[in-house]
Amino acid sequence: MEQIWSAGWTRRQVLGTAGSFVAAGGAVTDALAAAAEGAEKGGEIKLEEHSAKSERETGGPPKLQPPSQRVGYALVGLGHLTLEELLPAFAQCTASRPVALVSGDLAKARTVARQYGISEKSLYDYKTFDRIRDNPEVQVVYVVLPNSMHAEFTVRAAQAGKHVLCEKPMANTVAECEQMIEACRKAQRKLMVAYRMQYEPHHRALIGMARSGALGALKLFTADNGQHESNPQHWRLKRALAGGGALPDVGLYCLNASRYLSGEEPIEVMGTQYSTPGDARFKEVEEQFAFTLRFPSGLIAACTTGYSIHESRRLRLMGSEAWADMDPAFAYRGLRLRIARKSKDDPKVEEETERKYAEKSQFARELDHFSTCIQQGKDPHTPGEEGLQDQRLMEALYQSAREGKPVKLPPVAKKDAFRGPPPAQEA
Ligand code: NAD
Repeated sequence: MEQIWSAGWTRRQVLGTAGSFVAAGGAVTDALAAAAEGAEKGGEIKLEEHSAKSERETGGPPKLQPPSQRVGYALVGLGHLTLEELLPAFAQCTASRPVALVSGDLAKARTVARQYGISEKSLYDYKTFDRIRDNPEVQVVYVVLPNSMHAEFTVRAAQAGKHVLCEKPMANTVAECEQMIEACRKAQRKLMVAYRMQYEPHHRALIGMARSGALGALKLFTADNGQHESNPQHWRLKRALAGGGALPDVGLYCLNASRYLSGEEPIEVMGTQYSTPGDARFKEVEEQFAFTLRFPSGLIAACTTGYSIHESRRLRLMGSEAWADMDPAFAYRGLRLRIARKSKDDPKVEEETERKYAEKSQFARELDHFSTCIQQGKDPHTPGEEGLQDQRLMEALYQSAREGKPVKLPPVAKKDAFRGPPPAQEA
């Protein structure tokens, strides 16, 4: 019965019509089928409403593209992020599907391919990767490898004629980022850096508030993002593979948030770092990093990141009239956004409100954004230039920490200077 409502019939019409069909020989099923067909032609499926106006809207069923029309992804690297978050997230995608896997371990790739219905013919290792050029199902290569390998696989993917979604941090150096942008430009392929927070509804809401003046003038921003690493052998703690320690891995979230919330670019940065002497984990990369950023409007950001702290992922944006706080702010799930200001109803009252958006995989939102850009010929919101700017700033922060003094940067007048059009807002 549900599909009947989708054809735009009223409840009364349906009941009346069904009655006459029963009388005419029990052809109710045909009526339902006809109505359902009408709904499919209309494209959008609407269900019978039952919730009161006072309840929040569900947004309706997802508008799924048929699998054959969705953008096909090859995932390169079958580690924690790919297996625990990305492949499961495709189940919530409307415009994206996994069609190929690239791994150094073909036995693992075969197991994963069976789990997700990916053809054995679409499995590659790092040597045979370039053959992906002959696989028309693959439109995007998603690079989910240790940071030092991002540049190589982005360039090879572009040369194979594929669009590229690259995990953060974009690469280990400014030179590598520039090389990746150039390779994609030359091949006329799109390049997006996987900054999932910029597609997440709590963060998008806060961007809207910050930009509309709802918090007053933006004055201070604080953020912390850290976790506890235990394995001294892991690539995250090897300089050649990771590029740095906590800063490029998790501190990057604080840096990137200060930029997308304000839309500004810092004109002065200062950093300081510390690693516990003798700790085997931090022989090559920093354990913790603290930094400040000064923006042209006068906004100052103060951020910390660390690799031996209990998971901590929060931010606070303080304006002249209100503050907004997110804790957690950078986790995969369970984000909370609170806003405090003077109550409009009673000037003696401080009011705190909390916004809760529907939980949907952040990775599904990000994947579908890139797929839609490809299908509609648009630029992604977080292109290579956005990753390059963060890399420039991180290099300036390391320089500041080395020299023990602030580093000045050329002013960037334009807001959102390195971003493409904002993503479509959806539930
Ligand atoms: P991981 O260690 O779990 O997986 C990395 C994969 O790369 C493994 O399958 C490993 O076998 C493979 N690999 C290939 N060559 C390797 C080499 N020389 N040394 C080590 N491993 C090698 O790492 P991960 O947590 O999945 O991170 C992968 C990328 O994704 C990193 O760039 C990381 O910064 C990024 N990441 C992003 C998020 C996010 O929220 N956007 C979260 C986690 C990781």
